[in-house]
Amino acid sequence: MRQVYLDYSATTPVKKEVLEEMLPYFTEKFGNPSSLYGIGLSAKSDLNKAREKIAKLIGAEEREIYFTSSGTEADNWAVIGAARAKKAKGNHIITSAIEHHALIHTCQYLEKEGYDVTYLKVDSKGCISLEELKNSITDKTILISIMFANNEIGTIQPIKEIAEIAKSHGIWFHTDAVQALGNIPINVKELGIDMMSMSAHKIYGPKGVGALYIKKGVVIPSFMNGGAQENKRRAGTENMTGIIGFGKAAELAGANLEKHIKQVSELRNYFVKEITSKLEDVDINGDMEHRLPGNINLTFNYAEGEALLLYMDSRGISASTGSACSSASFTPSHVLSSLGIPLEKIYSSIRFTVGDFTTKEDIDYAVEEIVKIVEKLRGFSAFSKERTWCNNGNV
Ligand SMILES: *Cc1c(COP(=O)(O)O)cnc(C)c1O
Repeated sequence: MRQVYLDYSATTPVKKEVLEEMLPYFTEKFGNPSSLYGIGLSAKSDLNKAREKIAKLIGAEEREIYFTSSGTEADNWAVIGAARAKKAKGNHIITSAIEHHALIHTCQYLEKEGYDVTYLKVDSKGCISLEELKNSITDKTILISIMFANNEIGTIQPIKEIAEIAKSHGIWFHTDAVQALGNIPINVKELGIDMMSMSAHKIYGPKGVGALYIKKGVVIPSFMNGGAQENKRRAGTENMTGIIGFGKAAELAGANLEKHIKQVSELRNYFVKEITSKLEDVDINGDMEHRLPGNINLTFNYAEGEALLLYMDSRGISASTGSACSSASFTPSHVLSSLGIPLEKIYSSIRFTVGDFTTKEDIDYAVEEIVKIVEKLRGFSAFSKERTWCNNGNV
């Protein structure tokens, strides 16, 4: 049976060129970059070449890139680090209601320690309001952290405007760019970003490696205690294979960016056009204009999402009911709730993300199967138009 992967926002396969670049670092090039002899020194030099590739992709300087174990660690480090570094100034953090759990749960952790967190609402398209942001700032605000692009609905926030507001108040601005990286152009200098989280496995690199861009002059305490790695700011022997893979993935992402954007947005648009012309009562969630090129989030009204996913899986199609972390639970997506989407629609919503290995044939197959499945589910669903008992929000 055909396998159609439409969940590139959850993770991506490692590209062949990336794997090939990584392999020697498991074996012959196994040196510890902290060692002061041949293979150690060359590991250190290769490590910094990978750092340079990531810096280049985002318009940063090499020494402003710090490797971490994941995008999650980068988010934790930026937010907790800013909280610790600015303790004397204040205890107020501004973020949004639609952040990834890596960010939201870190903020909740700080709330338990007495920090105040404002979770900015978003409009029906998933965008924050710059007015509300300005009005939320107090003399105790130490950090604004707003994600670059959302993982469920793909909405891209007005990052430059947010950074300007932060800067005019002398507040640090962090952004979680895990979904944006490699999918849209990013230049941290032009945008005025102070800290930015990234992850390799969302851009065809390996899992378990991420990075935090920390602008020169922004000083936060080390996240790990130990050796002097990462300019004494993130201890622990470097994940060399992962970092080398991340560097190669970043290089490829930069070289292919325009082509990638064109290709995945065309496939995404084709998918949406086909689905919505063949099925009635399908809603598009989020904003079509300020949106990641490969992302679409659809509500299949009167069809239950979990059942839809299971049937899709049985036909070889992989997609997701929102964030990967919540896919195993029945908690409704906090992102879709924030858009004001009612519960019964949230439970009928699926995120599809296309990527570099998606083909038109994949989309044609997926559309054909999804149409059949949705029609079947609508036929016997308690959500059906005719049987409206759960369409009043009392699910
Ligand atoms: C995947 C993701 C993360 C977490 O990155 P990991 O490397 O998987 O820990 C954080 N934020 C966003 C927006 C993501 O999509």
